Amino acid sequence: MLDNFKNLLSEKRQELAEKLSNREEIAIERSSDALDSVQRSAEREYAISSLDRDWQTLKDIDLALERMEDGEYGTCQRCEEEISPKRLKAIPWAAYCITCQEKIDRERRNYREEFVLSDAA
Ligand SMILES: [Zn+2]
Repeated sequence: MLDNFKNLLSEKRQELAEKLSNREEIAIERSSDALDSVQRSAEREYAISSLDRDWQTLKDIDLALERMEDGEYGTCQRCEEEISPKRLKAIPWAAYCITCQEKIDRERRNYREEFVLSDAA
């Protein structure tokens, strides 16, 4: 069971690492272009945000692998309940149970909204 997840995580890690190293080259190529159109900067923004997401996932995978070493894999890092196998199958690097994840997402959204609002003022 755990070996399965370990393989899944390693494969995904490999895939992301390759994707990210390819994308870095694209980013450099683009930024050297002086004639930057609006569309191109929008494209770059999109590329950067998905780059961020991939980096985040890569980090999450590393943490999940660490938890595996520590025998903590599959335990919610917030409430210490077990993460459901269904959730782990969908997101093998999940660090939180679904309840905590929803709370965290909500907190982050609130934080972002506050930040954006105060920034605009
Ligand atoms: Zn939890």
